Amino acid sequence: MKLVFATNNLNKLQEVSSMISNQIKIISLKDISCNEDIIESENTIKGNAILKANFIKNNYGYDCFADDTGLEVDFLDGKPGVYSKRFAGKNSTDELNMQKLIMCMEESNNRSARFKTVIALNINNELTTFTGICEGEILTKKRGSNGFGYDPIFLPKGYTKTFGEMDMTDKNKIGHRSKAVKKLIDYLNNYC
Ligand code: IMP
Repeated sequence: MKLVFATNNLNKLQEVSSMISNQIKIISLKDISCNEDIIESENTIKGNAILKANFIKNNYGYDCFADDTGLEVDFLDGKPGVYSKRFAGKNSTDELNMQKLIMCMEESNNRSARFKTVIALNINNELTTFTGICEGEILTKKRGSNGFGYDPIFLPKGYTKTFGEMDMTDKNKIGHRSKAVKKLIDYLNNYC
């Protein structure tokens, strides 16, 4: 089975491809010559995942799945959430986003947060969604340089290493995206 994963993020492609069985061939946006910037215009994580999966199915004809992830911080009433990528501005970087988050939480003694991933799957225009959540807390300083995004300042609940200090295999065992991907794989295995 061939499925497009609607992302340009090589980290994510690697993460997901390493978890999915050989029976399912994951192809990228580049593989289908899609160079368009899909505008994530919805105001929920789930909404954006659905938007991207439907965009590829409708415009390129491929069965497709798309993910969207956000970091929900309790002290900030769930922000940055769907705006995690652009938290420090439109052309922000991971570094600036982390700096801003650390600054916004200077006064906070509630540091709990969670990563939430929603995957939307469109097969023959039938839509299904899968959610994965990883609870944890936001540290005051970066630790580690693995991964991407907010990984160096996210300490998953019950662990002593941040995502930035874990290798990909360990992150995949407990991470939000891998939880959502596992649900996707279970579904696909029963579907085939
Ligand atoms: P995306 O829309 O799924 O690419 O995620 C939006 C933003 O959330 C990214 O630009 C990162 O800042 C952050 N993010 C998503 N997944 C992760 C992760 O696994 N670790 C750390 N940050 C992440």
